[in-house]
Amino acid sequence: MIPLAIPNLQGREADYLQDCITSTFVSTVGPFVTNFEGQIATLSGTPSAVVLCSGTTALHLTLEGLDIGENDLVMLPSLTFIATPNSVKHAGADVWLVDVHASDWTMDVSLARDAILSKTDPHADGRIHRETGKILKAIMPVMIMGAVPDLDGLCDLAREFGLKVVVDAAAAIGTSGINGVKLGMTGVDAVCYSFNGNKTVTCGGGGAVASNNSALITRIKHLSSTGRVGANYDHDIVAYNYRMTNLQAAVGVAQLERLDEFLNAKQVIRNTYAEFASKFEVLDAFPEPQFGRNGHWFSGFWYTGEDPEVGQKFRNHMKSSGIDLRPFWKPIHLQAPYRAALVEPMHVAGDLWQRIFPLPCSTHLTPEQLDTVLDAASVFWTAYEGTS
Ligand SMILES: *Cc1c(COP(=O)(O)O)cnc(C)c1O
Repeated sequence: MIPLAIPNLQGREADYLQDCITSTFVSTVGPFVTNFEGQIATLSGTPSAVVLCSGTTALHLTLEGLDIGENDLVMLPSLTFIATPNSVKHAGADVWLVDVHASDWTMDVSLARDAILSKTDPHADGRIHRETGKILKAIMPVMIMGAVPDLDGLCDLAREFGLKVVVDAAAAIGTSGINGVKLGMTGVDAVCYSFNGNKTVTCGGGGAVASNNSALITRIKHLSSTGRVGANYDHDIVAYNYRMTNLQAAVGVAQLERLDEFLNAKQVIRNTYAEFASKFEVLDAFPEPQFGRNGHWFSGFWYTGEDPEVGQKFRNHMKSSGIDLRPFWKPIHLQAPYRAALVEPMHVAGDLWQRIFPLPCSTHLTPEQLDTVLDAASVFWTAYEGTS
């Protein structure tokens, strides 16, 4: 089976892990942790960063660090992975779901603005939602599959209404905004990454927060490490054990040595699938928003035709050809835990997700494997267009 996205561990990962074993620095303190934090900050253009045990905890502690919790609302796009809204709930707040742009699949700034204007009033900490009395304090744009959204537009929106901007950049390491501006310097309050096993850069599991707000980074460190003060067992808040270990960071440091190579490989895979899609009437490449350098964590194509059964047929066909093809993320407003969430009309996300086909995109996917994928896809879509 050609997998969707598996880690590429052919660099110095094993050497660095051995260093951890030899030095006994296997836990949450160690040189790789410090090194990895420094590199994440540099890549993000921020004075500091903190590494954590997952992308979900990075988002969660960022919200908590910004004093977002009970009785608060965070607005986010429904077309995302379940971890994004889960992090809001973990912080004790509630989600307010908005649709994405049909053109680039990122949070629709004007729909968000209309919803805020029509359903909230000004409040000292953001905006008060009239119907629920909850306070909208932040927006959480998602860099879907590594795509850079309109960060300027999102920051303008946030400033207009006194909101924070917490970016779910889980899959977007190595991307940048317009004119190459680093993500942390785009005006957002925090950038949250994931280093889960299937991401472009992995630590096995892990996450990070980069921010220009050094006090926020310090606070997240404190929250992630049991709220300990001083060298003894004194703790000043109910906190968490969410730190990254030196073992995870060792893998991350080795991975970052090959970041350019990984991003280039993702770009080549994207271009190949985009070119393939251009040959078929009913297929389109994933969008390429023009707001900076995209990361292309996942790529593939999407179906623009009218047959509601085609997705399952195509997935079955690819599976029988030895290719791992799964449905895309089901939007949050359709997920059981969020049935009661505040939700704006979902004309795009409600339909789009079933049309999206993420294809194999590991950074060490071989040309032969890519040909196998394209040949199998070609058989299906040629037959489809021949008969319709
Ligand atoms: C991967 C991902 C996450 C979650 O990261 P974990 O490290 O798995 O907790 C959150 N949001 C998006 C958009 C993701 O792609």
